[in-house]
Amino acid sequence: MFCVKCGKEGDTFRGRCMDCFLEGRELLVLPPFVDLDRCTGCDEFLLSKKWRTLNDEEAACEAAVNSSGAIADADVIAVGAESERQDDRNIRVHVEADLDIDGHEVPVEAETVVRLKNTVCHRCSRQLGNYYEAVLQLRASHRGLGEQVKDDMLRKVLDKVEAASTNNRQMFVSKVQEMHGGLDFYLSSMSLSRGIARELAAEYGAEVKESSSLVGMKEGEETYRLTHLVRLPHYKLEDIVEHQGRPYQLMALSKRGGKLLSLENFQVISVRTSDLRSLKVLGGSDDIADAVVVACYDDEVQVLHPRDYSTVSLRIPAGLRTGDSVKVFDHEGVLLLVP
Ligand SMILES: [Zn+2]
Ligand SMILES: [Zn+2]
Repeated sequence: MFCVKCGKEGDTFRGRCMDCFLEGRELLVLPPFVDLDRCTGCDEFLLSKKWRTLNDEEAACEAAVNSSGAIADADVIAVGAESERQDDRNIRVHVEADLDIDGHEVPVEAETVVRLKNTVCHRCSRQLGNYYEAVLQLRASHRGLGEQVKDDMLRKVLDKVEAASTNNRQMFVSKVQEMHGGLDFYLSSMSLSRGIARELAAEYGAEVKESSSLVGMKEGEETYRLTHLVRLPHYKLEDIVEHQGRPYQLMALSKRGGKLLSLENFQVISVRTSDLRSLKVLGGSDDIADAVVVACYDDEVQVLHPRDYSTVSLRIPAGLRTGDSVKVFDHEGVLLLVP
């Protein structure tokens, strides 16, 4: 075989030797400008039809590479890009690639300017428009939620929304409002609201009521909004409580009831939700203190009272291994071991 252009004998590709085939040919095509959408709300970039979090330079390089294309005769073996900021809106990107053309490895390069275009993504436009499909209402069973609980629950719910939004960008909170001593969360999705309500029911033994209201018609179909009323009980896990006049620690909560650990004989009993409602809370985890162990026997330990450092003997459950200290709760002057 010989080259139809220069006449050289040897391997040919499309009738020419590789030198003649490559001569003057644009192998990597890249337009002079590439537009890249950036959301002014969340700073994410639209790349290959998906909104993603990247820094400007990474996004510009990816946009340039996505817009580049090698000629049909070539296979791209490797591709890389380098960026150079020109100003606020423009990033120059240099793309380099290694192509395989009929077994020949050919390095190529091209340049473009990526122009950042401000826009608003679908999620942000909904969020800015206070879009919501459901309201999660968090309330205490008596009185208000209390500042500490309110702060904790605010963080808790926002964390759950954020966790959901990492898998699905359409999950967001539009607005949080203090209402009737509780909190109202305006959420973008009914399933998000329902999911969080269920989680709070399981974690706190909260009561959940779902209701819906008709808000209008959309494309010939009735549209609804959901409300999830979540009532937090007056007790929470690990609280020290009084049940039928005796002290217990609340160990577990479920839809049907809970488990209580006796702080007198260390037996665990199951109680129904109706029993839980009548529990008297004696103290929370903040009221449980450490007491230094001075001596340890089979079924009791001697500890220093955390308040006055007197020596106190406490019964311990069989098999409990104590370290240098044990957890105790001061119940009206009587120290109780919390295993
Ligand atoms: Zn030739
Ligand atoms: Zn956005």
